[in-house]
Amino acid sequence: MATRKKTQPKPVTCPDCGGKGEIAETVRVGARKGRATEDRQAALCLTCLGTGDAPADGK
Ligand SMILES: [Zn+2]
Repeated sequence: MATRKKTQPKPVTCPDCGGKGEIAETVRVGARKGRATEDRQAALCLTCLGTGDAPADGK
């Protein structure tokens, strides 16, 4: 019987930030998501929480 060995799960790069752990987010001014400005600021990637790895799905 040829049983394939399980390969070790390799870390998956976060699709949102590309593994950087942070994203460039548009700066908005005013309360309640006012106008978006042309400025951008680095923000923590909420998908991976800054780790750069895609979160393991669910279980
Ligand atoms: Zn990310």
